[in-house]
Amino acid sequence: MTTLTRKLLQWYRKRARKLPWRETNDPYRIWLSEVMLQQTQVDTVIPYYERWLKKYPTLQKVAQASEDEILKLWEGLGYYARARNFRKACQEVVERYQGKVPLDPQVFSTLKGVGPYTLAAVQSIAFQKSLPAMDGNIKRIVSRLLRLDEPPSKVLSPIGAFLQKNISPKQPGDFNQALMDIGATICLPKNPKCLLCPLSLDCEAFQFKQAHFYPIAEEKNPRPHYRAAVGVVWKGDKLLISKRKSEGFLGGLWEFPGGKMKMGESAKLCVEREVKEEVGVEVEAVKSVGVIEHAYTHFSIEMEGFLCRYLKGKPQTLDCADWKWISFSELKKFAFPTANRKLFPLLPKTNPFE
Ligand code: SF4
Repeated sequence: MTTLTRKLLQWYRKRARKLPWRETNDPYRIWLSEVMLQQTQVDTVIPYYERWLKKYPTLQKVAQASEDEILKLWEGLGYYARARNFRKACQEVVERYQGKVPLDPQVFSTLKGVGPYTLAAVQSIAFQKSLPAMDGNIKRIVSRLLRLDEPPSKVLSPIGAFLQKNISPKQPGDFNQALMDIGATICLPKNPKCLLCPLSLDCEAFQFKQAHFYPIAEEKNPRPHYRAAVGVVWKGDKLLISKRKSEGFLGGLWEFPGGKMKMGESAKLCVEREVKEEVGVEVEAVKSVGVIEHAYTHFSIEMEGFLCRYLKGKPQTLDCADWKWISFSELKKFAFPTANRKLFPLLPKTNPFE
């Protein structure tokens, strides 16, 4: 064991964060936590994790659940492919591995949604396999420890080699989790708290008083901004909702039909065109209810909602996976993207055209 590893493990024994998924050895729960934690803060994850386990205490229960049920529980957590893939992976575990999370890293890595980070995190924590986990926090720490003079994405192999050299063969899970905790609480992107850090004597960036220079920033493309419009189509006492196709961004979620505005197109014309193209229904976009702004990781949108009068046509799945006429009170039963949910408080509860 290297000195750095010893210091890290000692620190972790005293300072590990108390987190619900650290109170279990159940590989299903550990796996679930790692899936939820991808791109998401611990504080956001905890209530979702607890609600999830109340409803699905075992992997078998996840395998039996419908995609709609899973997405409803995941609603608001974002990156919905994680939930869809996790359900499919659980189904595979039930069908092919007698319901037991595979102990063999190679087999585990073939399951839907299991990438290198999830593989290493789950296998090291649940099964003590010596696999270093490399997420953004850990890459930042190593970039500082070694003063790597390129952005992390360009120096993955020295980062990986450093972690592989230092990971504890007996406590690889604690090693990975110690680094996760230091990344989340001490070696912060801005203003790292080096005086509290157990690795400060091993850290080149700290020793040279250059922690704030590292890691070297990645080149970023500007985040695109889109304008979109959606139609809240009323017919009698029902509203029309459509389901996004399963694969792809926000796949499997329900929404008000609509889409991106074309160059020079008004929001009203966009709604009328999009509703026809997506669900085959002709509508008149009568009144705007407001514009919602929402930022996703890779782009931002401003989305105008329109109250629409139904004119003609039976809904079809032209460019969606499904559609439904529902009452206003049923909106909460379906999983919607956050931008759509921001429209809910602006909507009338009954048909404004009757
Ligand atoms: Fe990060 Fe500072 Fe610790 Fe170095 S000493 S790993 S920069 S917190």
